[in-house]
Formats: sequence, C-alpha cells, structure tokens
Amino acid sequence: MLGGTTEASRLAQALAGADVHAVFSYAGRTEAPVTQPLPTRVGGFGGVPGLRDYLQREAISHVIDATHPFAAQMSQHAVQACTELGLPLLALERPAWQAQDGDRWQHVPDLAAAVAALPAEPARVFLAIGRQHVQPFLEQARHWYLLRLVDPGFELPEKRGTVVLDRGPFSLANDLNLLDRHRITHVVAKNAGGHGAQAKLTAARQRGCPVILIDRPPIPPRTTVGTVEQALQWLGLSHAHGTERGV
Ligand code: NAP
Repeated sequence: MLGGTTEASRLAQALAGADVHAVFSYAGRTEAPVTQPLPTRVGGFGGVPGLRDYLQREAISHVIDATHPFAAQMSQHAVQACTELGLPLLALERPAWQAQDGDRWQHVPDLAAAVAALPAEPARVFLAIGRQHVQPFLEQARHWYLLRLVDPGFELPEKRGTVVLDRGPFSLANDLNLLDRHRITHVVAKNAGGHGAQAKLTAARQRGCPVILIDRPPIPPRTTVGTVEQALQWLGLSHAHGTERGV
C-alpha cells in the first residue's frame, strides 16, 4: 500500500485487523510519520524501475495506491509498474470538494495559475499547500503569507509572513480562529477532498473569504474507489470480515 493520507491509515488498520500480509510505504516527507499497524518501509523506490524491482522482490500480488490526490508522480509510476508486471492496482481516492452556497472559489488548474490568480493589491494569504511550493508565491512580494506545516525548520523571511506548526485533522473552530487572528483575506488550497483539511474552506465560507482552489493533477486511468470499505471489497475481504457490505 502506498500511503501518506488519512484514508491510507484507516485502510492499514482494516488490513491489520484482517491479518492481510501487507506493507505500508511512506515517501518519508515528514519527520515523524503516523505509526502504522503494518510493516512499514520509508523512502522512494527509485522511479518506475525501482518500484518494479521492489514489487517483484517482495512478491507483491496487489497494489493499493492510497496516496494524496496531488501525489501524481507516485500514482503515475504505480500505474506504469503494475501495467508492466500485470499486477492488479486499485486507487483509494477521496472525492474532490464541491462548492456550496456562499463559497467564493476560483478554480485554477495548477500552482502557476494560483500564483497568477492572486490579487493586484496587497493581500494576507493563507497558503495551505505545503512547503515545497511556496517560493513562487513569495516572489509576489506585495503579499503576506500564513503557512501551516507539520515539521519545524522552515521560516519565512521577516515581514513576509508566519509559520504555524500543526497536523490535521483540523477543526472549524481552529481554522476560524486562524483566519481571524491573522486577518486572512485569501486562502490558497489544493482540492484534496476528504474531511481532515476541509475546515479551512468552511471557515473561508463563513468569513466570506475568497479561495483560490487548485484542481487535481491528471493521473492515467486506473480502477478507483472512494472508501476503505470498497477497497476491502476489491481485495475480497469485506464480506468475510464483517464490514458494511450487505449489512
Ligand atoms: P509525488 O510527487 O507523487 O512523488 C514524488 C516521489 O516521491 C515519487 O516518485 C516516489 O519516489 C516518492 N513517493 C511518493 N509517495 C511515496 C510513497 N507513498 N511511498 C514511497 N515513495 C513515495 O508525491 P508528493 O506529492 O511529494 O507526496 C509525497 C507523499 O506525501 C505521498 O505519499 C503523499 O500521499 C503524501 N502527501 C502529499 C500531499 C501533496 O499535496 N502532494 C499532501 C499530503 C500528503 P521514487 O520515484 O523514488 O519512487
């Protein structure tokens, strides 16, 4: 299982409970990843060839890609390696967020378009996108930025913004407080879907704050389900282990 999401952690619980021989794979992006109830490996495989070698060496029979919807490279490698080896591949992917009444969303296709969508006048921007992609925003020197990161060690230049350290899931009260305390005028976010990171969008709606929402990157076609229960069904497990199917 390729992990790094809340759904992956939930599926790992279910697989451990069902005594499935499974390995959980992390990219190794965060310093203290959530401990999993499955044997865990950490780090990249070395592209498609490395992934192919790994799958063969470990005699893997099924692959579940439960990475984040924006982890497009890993997902694309999984499609390619599994196709080449003839292995069944399932993507566990949460549905994208949909706008509701009161939302002021501007959909953009990628990070560059999100930078271009920032207003002409100085804004106070909650940049909810992770540290790797901050630089092009910082080049827009008229704006002030709030970053929320999991690990310490990343600072913004003085007067350009601030960093808060926190790990999801985030509550609405927390995110309303964040918007108010930092007088946020714009939110930039990826359309990740799911519940853990949704509060910022609800908070933005309640405060009438515009959101620049980055669409998901394209990933080659693959079998996809939206819930842990469906992933268990795909493995032929849900009935035997008393999950929701047929109940
Ligand atoms: P990415 O751009 O698609 O992947 C870059 C490289 O990182 C991959 O080619 C692979 O290296 C390695 N990698 C990624 N996920 C891996 C995994 N689960 N196990 C082993 N190697 C992995 O991915 P990313 O956007 O940097 O995301 C990295 C991880 O963070 C993912 O596991 C994802 O679920 C999680 N995450 C991402 C986001 C996001 O917004 N992108 C948000 C929350 C969590 P090799 O080519 O060497 O195999």
